[in-house]
Amino acid sequence: MLQPVDFLPYLPLMNLLPFDSLPAYRPRRFVPEKIDLGDWPQIAPLFDRLEKRANECGTAAELEKWLLDWSELSAALDEESSRRYIAMTCHTDNPEAEKDYLHFIEKIDPELKPRQFQLSRLYVSHPLRTKLTKARFEGFDRDTKNQVELFRPENVPLETEDAKLSQQYQKLTGSLTVQFRGEEKTLIQMGRYLEETDRALRQEAWELVANRRLKERDQFEDIFDKSIRLRGQIAKNAGFEQYLSYSFRKLGRFDYTPDDCLKFHNAIEQEFMPIVRELQAERRQQMNLKTLRPWDMAVDPFGRPPLRPFEKVDRMVSGAQKIWDQMDDELARGFRQMDDLRLLDLANRKGKAPGGYQSTLNEARLPFIFMNSVGLQRDVETLFHEGGHAFHALATRDEDIYPYRSAPIEFCEVASMSMELLCNESLEEFYAAADSNRARRVHLENLILYIFPWVATVDAFQHWIYTHPGHTRDERKAAWLALMDRFGGDVDWSGYEDARGYLWHRQLHIFTHPFYYVEYAIAQLGALQVWANSKRDKRAALNDYKKALKLGGSRPLPELFAAAGCKFDFTRQTVRPLVNLIRTELEKLN
Ligand SMILES: [Zn+2]
Repeated sequence: MLQPVDFLPYLPLMNLLPFDSLPAYRPRRFVPEKIDLGDWPQIAPLFDRLEKRANECGTAAELEKWLLDWSELSAALDEESSRRYIAMTCHTDNPEAEKDYLHFIEKIDPELKPRQFQLSRLYVSHPLRTKLTKARFEGFDRDTKNQVELFRPENVPLETEDAKLSQQYQKLTGSLTVQFRGEEKTLIQMGRYLEETDRALRQEAWELVANRRLKERDQFEDIFDKSIRLRGQIAKNAGFEQYLSYSFRKLGRFDYTPDDCLKFHNAIEQEFMPIVRELQAERRQQMNLKTLRPWDMAVDPFGRPPLRPFEKVDRMVSGAQKIWDQMDDELARGFRQMDDLRLLDLANRKGKAPGGYQSTLNEARLPFIFMNSVGLQRDVETLFHEGGHAFHALATRDEDIYPYRSAPIEFCEVASMSMELLCNESLEEFYAAADSNRARRVHLENLILYIFPWVATVDAFQHWIYTHPGHTRDERKAAWLALMDRFGGDVDWSGYEDARGYLWHRQLHIFTHPFYYVEYAIAQLGALQVWANSKRDKRAALNDYKKALKLGGSRPLPELFAAAGCKFDFTRQTVRPLVNLIRTELEKLN
C-alpha cells in the first residue's frame, strides 16, 4: 500500500501557497507521479499516448477507461494552473509567482488547447461512441459534439482578433483615472464615494467618472464596431445567419432559446419594475429629495455609517461556521475541513490581488476561497456566496469524469446565491436584530431587485445589436435609451443625457463576453426558489439543494433545477410569486 505522500505531484511554488501539499483524491493511474506540469516536453507525450490509444480502443469499456485517463490528465493540468493562479494572486509582489503563472498562460495553454481539441475530435468520430451508457455520457457527448461541430479553422485568427479587442477595452477602462480632491484615483476607487452621505461629494465623484468615460466615447465605439463585425463573420463562417443563434450554440444553451430570454425581459418589466419604482419612491422620501439622481442610489438612505459585522477575519470565519453548524452537518464539516487545511485566504493585506474568488484544486478535488475582507457586510455576503461554490465543488468529489465536476454557470450561481439567502436568515450571529434586518434589506434591494432590470437591459441590448447588423451608432444609442426607459425606473438623468446614452460602455461583458450575463438572473430565479422552498420546509429545501449540487454538470439544466426543487422557467408565472415573497420579506424588515 502506497502512502498518501507518494501520490503527491511535483509541486513548484509550494512555499507561496497558503495551504500544504494536498494528495490527489484518486491515485494517479495515467499521469506519472513525477512530472513537471509546467514543462510542455513532459506533457506532450501524454497527449501522444491518448491520441494513439483512441484508435486502439476495441470495446466501450476501453473507450470509457480512455475518457477517465483523459479526465485525470485534464484535472492535473487544471490544478497546476489553479495553483499558479492562487500563488500569484496571494503574492502580487512576488516576481517568481507572476513569472510562473504567465509561463503557464503563454507557453502551456496555447500548446494545450489544440491537443485537447484533437482528443474531442477523436472522441466524436469514434465508432464506439454510441455504445457508451447513454444516461451516463449523454451530457458529455452533447457538449463535446457541439464544440467540434462549431469549430472552423478560419475562425481561429478572427477569435484572436476579437480577444485582442477585448484586451484593448480592458486596458482602456483600466487606464482611466480622475483627479479627485488632489489625488489621482482609478474609476474603481471612485466607486466608494457613491456611498458617502455628503450629497455634493457624491455628485462630484459621479460626474468626474461619467465625464472621464465620455471622453473616450469614440474609442469605446470603435472597439465595439470592430468586435461586432468580427463576430458576424465568425457566425457566418460557422454556417449561422446571425451571431445571436451562433452564440447560443457556442455557449451551450441547449435548454433555452433567444425567445425565452425575450419573454424573461417582459416578465422582468411586468413583475419587477412596479416594486423597483415603489422602492425608488420610498428611497426618495427617506432621503427627502425631489428627484433621485444617479448618484443617490448606493448611499444608505438614512445617512447611517456602514455596518461593521466583525473586526478580525477569524470572527467572520467562526460566525459563518456557526451558521453552517446550525444549518447542516455535511456543509459544516466541509467548511471546517477547508479551514483546517488552510483553504481559506480571506483577509485583505498588502500584496494581494483585488476581489474574491473560489477556485477548485481539481486533482485534490478541494475548493479554495480567496477574498479581501476588511470588516464589511459585503465580506460576509461574499463568504456565503463563495462558500456555496465551495460546497458545490465538495459535493462532486466522487465524480470521476472531469467536465461533470462543474455545472453550467446558470446552476453554479444557484449554489452560491441560494447560500447568501439561506445564511442571511441567521445574520444575528453578527449583529443585533435591527442591523441584521438592515443588512437583509440591502441584500434584497440592491443585490437582487435592482439587478434583474439591469440584466434585462444588458441582455435585451445585445439581442437588439446582433439582430440589427449594419446599424449606425445613433441607432444603437437610441436602442439603448429605449431600454433605459423600460428598465431604468424613476431616476432623474436630466443634464446627463449623454452619460445615460452611453452607460453601456462600462459593462465589460458586452465587450468581452457577448451574451454572457443573463445567466445571473436565471440563477437568481433558482436561488429565490430554493429560499422560497426553505420558508416552507427548511430541511427538505436543503436536502434538495444538496442533491442537486451532487449532480455537478452530469445532467442538463432543467434536471439540475428540478433536483433543487425549482422550475427552470423564466416566465411571469415563476417570477410573480418570487417578487411577492421579496415584497412580504421587505415589509417584515421595516
Ligand atoms: Zn459566483
